[in-house]
Amino acid sequence: MSTLEDALPVIRSSAPSAEPDSRSLPARQDADPFGAMVAVLLARQVGPAAVVAIVDGLRDAGLLDPVHLDLAAAPEIQDALAGRVRSFSLRTIGPAKQLAHWIAEHYNGRADELVRSDRSTDDIRTELAAIRGIGPAGADAILVSSLHRPAYAVDRGTYRILVRHGWLDTAADYEEVRDLLVHHAGGDPALLVGLAAGMDALATRYCRASAPRCDACPLRPFLLDGGPVEVGEE
Ligand code: SF4
Repeated sequence: MSTLEDALPVIRSSAPSAEPDSRSLPARQDADPFGAMVAVLLARQVGPAAVVAIVDGLRDAGLLDPVHLDLAAAPEIQDALAGRVRSFSLRTIGPAKQLAHWIAEHYNGRADELVRSDRSTDDIRTELAAIRGIGPAGADAILVSSLHRPAYAVDRGTYRILVRHGWLDTAADYEEVRDLLVHHAGGDPALLVGLAAGMDALATRYCRASAPRCDACPLRPFLLDGGPVEVGEE
């Protein structure tokens, strides 16, 4: 039986390299930790072009700062983004605003406090996951893409691939899946981002919820003899 370890190079090489996708964009979007965190949260709701437009709009209006964004009223945010994003909803910026409030309140408005090596990843994850609109997967996305810490934002596509290949039991909970992937990537944030991008590409193109397209999939050589394992209800 092929192991996940055996398949990792193929999964990582399936990530698109030329075009930025919704996972790789945030890490490049902004060197400032808060800007990168906002970009990650936006990328969970809108496409790459809209992420860039919103982040640029906030920055140009002086709102890409935890204290300023926390204090900004709805009309100020709407003005900042007017004409930049089509059919923009304030709800899109909701999780970023909650994040800004949390940083302003608990870290004196300093997002760079979160990258300090003496701060525990588990503690930050717990605090982030408790913020309204972020949750466990949002927290892990921020940790790995913005704060460069070992984490994996588990999504349905990743789950399907792992289960269909017999690398994961369907009884596994979110934390077990994340820990499995972090372990296999040796805790390397860059490898984890590449792994997530590869999983996303494979799940979107081949390993769909409705029916897997194994015949054309690069992971076909890693299937069990009986073919894909049943995932169950999605
Ligand atoms: S499409 Fe088939 S071979 Fe590809 S990842 Fe899904 S189960 Fe595996």
